[in-house]
Amino acid sequence: MTLKELKTDFQNPLIGLYPSEEIQSFFNILSEEYLRLSRIEMALNPERIISEEASEKFQRALLRLKNHEPIQYILGETEFYGLLFKVNSNTLIPRPETEELVEFIISEQKLTAQNPQLTTILDIGTGSGCIAISLAKNLFNSKLSALDISNEALKIAQENANLNNAEVEFFQVDILKTKTLPKQYDIIVSNPPYVRELEKKQMQQNVLEYEPESALYVSNEDPLLFYRTISHLAKNHLRPNGKLFFEINEYLSEELNALLNSEGFRNIVIKKDIFGKDRMIKCSLNE
Ligand code: GLN
Repeated sequence: MTLKELKTDFQNPLIGLYPSEEIQSFFNILSEEYLRLSRIEMALNPERIISEEASEKFQRALLRLKNHEPIQYILGETEFYGLLFKVNSNTLIPRPETEELVEFIISEQKLTAQNPQLTTILDIGTGSGCIAISLAKNLFNSKLSALDISNEALKIAQENANLNNAEVEFFQVDILKTKTLPKQYDIIVSNPPYVRELEKKQMQQNVLEYEPESALYVSNEDPLLFYRTISHLAKNHLRPNGKLFFEINEYLSEELNALLNSEGFRNIVIKKDIFGKDRMIKCSLNE
């Protein structure tokens, strides 16, 4: 079969299921992965002959896309902060807003950490390891630890650390059950579950059906459960000049501000994402 035929066979069944730009982009991404062809090469040679083996790969991906499986799980990888990460259904797919959280921490550190001392950092609920690994790669003189409740996620996180040549110490902890953390840290960061059950209506089928529930959802009654628990632990495990960073639910920034304040945190700064939504928060224990 020719490239042109492959494209038609792949794209037609997806019409109506996804916007046309997205269908086009799926085809381009998969062609790069399965055929090692760039968009230009494809455009220049539509009559190129495609092997049986390659066209079967497209067929398999097509079936999964028809079932609304995220393209990142089909490929088994995605990019985050310029690095490649393996992902599977045990790990949340890293989001662009989390890249903004990483950027927030890196720019803060570059501003304040002029001394050559080692910065110890803990990432709580690391998932694919994207926050911890991108910090390890970008912050000079830092020592990263990361924990998660899921051993399956930690396996992927460790693979990602190896893949990116990053040093991160991973360990399994249920943050809602533990009373202590192993050490004192200069920075504690977390992107905990924060989507309320009532917000599920606004979510896409591919997120609802394929991404790990334990990484995403919280009850309507106690949506700040993870933030309360983590800030409580952080009070005892942050060094005197330490900072706590969170990714947050855009609708709950005021409540969270009040919660952190009542826990004794100061210098609370809420930061918006590129869509103008309250998405990150930073605070510290000292005045
Ligand atoms: N921002 C993610 C989403 O909307 C949620 C991440 C989280 O719950 N920590 O899909």
